[in-house]
Amino acid sequence: MFIELTEILRCPADHQESYVVCVPVEMDGRRVVRGGIGCPVCRAEYPIVGGEVFFGGPDAAAERAPAREAGPPGGAPEEVPPPSYDAAALRSFLDLEGAGGYAVLVGRAAAAGPDIAELVPGVHFFGVNPPEKVAPSALFSVLQSPRALPVKTQSVRAVVLGADFAGEPWLAEGVRVLLKGLRLVVEDERASPSGIAELARGAGLLVGEKRDR
Ligand SMILES: [Zn+2]
Repeated sequence: MFIELTEILRCPADHQESYVVCVPVEMDGRRVVRGGIGCPVCRAEYPIVGGEVFFGGPDAAAERAPAREAGPPGGAPEEVPPPSYDAAALRSFLDLEGAGGYAVLVGRAAAAGPDIAELVPGVHFFGVNPPEKVAPSALFSVLQSPRALPVKTQSVRAVVLGADFAGEPWLAEGVRVLLKGLRLVVEDERASPSGIAELARGAGLLVGEKRDR
């Protein structure tokens, strides 16, 4: 995990929003490879293992970390159909002008993460619950969080929800973390998240903008 990402993270537990504390044990440049995230409100501690943050807690990390090396249980690789757009198209949907800040891709949509991170180097992209094959890197942080987005309200410049995360609570979470006036893309053209003004709908996608009020 890119260490500066800590500034927009929050504990996903159901309590008031607060900062979290990152305790790196092993670093690679600006990336935390091993360590932990602590919540000052509920005292939860979330491990960082292999560069990934596990907001599901220590059990989730123990289950997931060996799986990446050995392949998923059962032998067959996880089937993840490619998204119906490429990173260049996604860049135009997201309309990110200027450098700085963060953008999040959730679920299947995170497969495009490493590519769009290279296309838009001024914005730090990160994935939440990405497909198994998407590994964390210096350009792309990876978080696992089963219940909610572990991200502060109105803190990211763009949100993309994959088809596997196009329902609730993820639609409401996506709108919550997005800054006003900026873009949400959902891999489900039937989606109509509250608080979003529709810009385009079709080809399996909804592109919208967060309303000012
Ligand atoms: Zn907490």
